[in-house]
Amino acid sequence: MNFSSYLPTNIIAGRGCVRARAEAFKPLGSHALIVTGKSSAACGALSDVCAALEANGQMYTVFDRVAPNPTLACVREGIALLKAAGADFVIGLGGGSPMDAAKAIALLSVEERADEAVFAGGYGQSALPMAHIPTTAGTGSEVTPYAILTDDFSRTKTSISSPALFPKVAFLDGSYTDILPPHITKNTAMDAFSHAAESILKNSSSPASEMFARESLRILFPLMRSIDAPSKEERDALLWASCLAGMAIAHTGTTVVHGMGYFLTYDYGIPHGRANGLLLGETLRLCEEEHVPALDLICSACGADTEEIKAMLSRLLGERERIPRGVLEGYAARAEHNKNVGKCKFGTSKDDILRIFVRSLG
Ligand code: NAP
Ligand code: FE
Repeated sequence: MNFSSYLPTNIIAGRGCVRARAEAFKPLGSHALIVTGKSSAACGALSDVCAALEANGQMYTVFDRVAPNPTLACVREGIALLKAAGADFVIGLGGGSPMDAAKAIALLSVEERADEAVFAGGYGQSALPMAHIPTTAGTGSEVTPYAILTDDFSRTKTSISSPALFPKVAFLDGSYTDILPPHITKNTAMDAFSHAAESILKNSSSPASEMFARESLRILFPLMRSIDAPSKEERDALLWASCLAGMAIAHTGTTVVHGMGYFLTYDYGIPHGRANGLLLGETLRLCEEEHVPALDLICSACGADTEEIKAMLSRLLGERERIPRGVLEGYAARAEHNKNVGKCKFGTSKDDILRIFVRSLG
């Protein structure tokens, strides 16, 4: 019993909750910058948010130019629009990419930094108030203090972290995920599963973080075994499990698995959740070989053994990408400097990391 637990986001869940609980936007400000991608209009989320703000008499400006894996240039464009419009709060609406872009806009519009200093850390406590509405069930960004951006300086993706990045409100409406195509449903579920498992495998895990992580795995594992055509109830459960996994990593952060996956996304365009899924099975195998006790927590929460978890992931992944060994060796050398090396319950030496890479993708 030696931990702290800080989860300041007001979570409002249920189909129709954005319109039904419109008053939750009221204290955030008078003019919203809605940061989103193109799919938010198709899934109905954008019209719900606009209707809720209009009912409250709040103004809004829509910035719908966020593409997957947001860049600093995209964030700068959003900040310029926010300032031109005079917006005083931010709504992140979409998958993890628009939500993370929204967080960076809310932070960097208050704390101005040159591009070279964005990933240097040391952020203060203030950002514009935010509401977040996920339209994928994977990142949990709606309840985490992180924003992950494409980092062209380090040729990977890098997270910005600050308690100021916790949204004030998160609306969870599973109906926005009903139209997700199967490959995005699978990739994003693998992200959530990886968050929960990685949180348990972090040295900083605690009874609080484990509670969220284990409940997330308990929900996710059976759903991911039969994910081909989720019912509405299953969609709702996937979204809740993703949020739970977000609450787990809000305590612990992720492991080197995420850090390794960022190389795959940056260089090969492999979607974020898939990148984690590709690496997680062999990470669990390494834990088994090293007799890591925390692996039992993961397996018991899933009601499955390591082989069954690996089989579930392999089924979702289908044919794997293959990457030349020389490239993987380069990644292993770079991953050695990842901030999570030495902070995980499994070996994170250069050889351990290379073993995971080669077994997964070699
Ligand atoms: P995403 O990059 O936000 O979106 C992937 C694709 O899904 C996009 O083409 C998007 O279309 C589409 N999409 C989103 N919602 C949809 C819907 N309801 N119906 C149909 N299509 C939809 O993917 P993601 O996996 O959710 O987020 C990944 C990002 O989150 C990565 O950048 C990752 O690093 C980050 N992440 C952040 C955290 C955190 O704690 N902050 C944690 C994990 C991951 P449009 O672009 O057209 O909208
Ligand atoms: Fe992730």
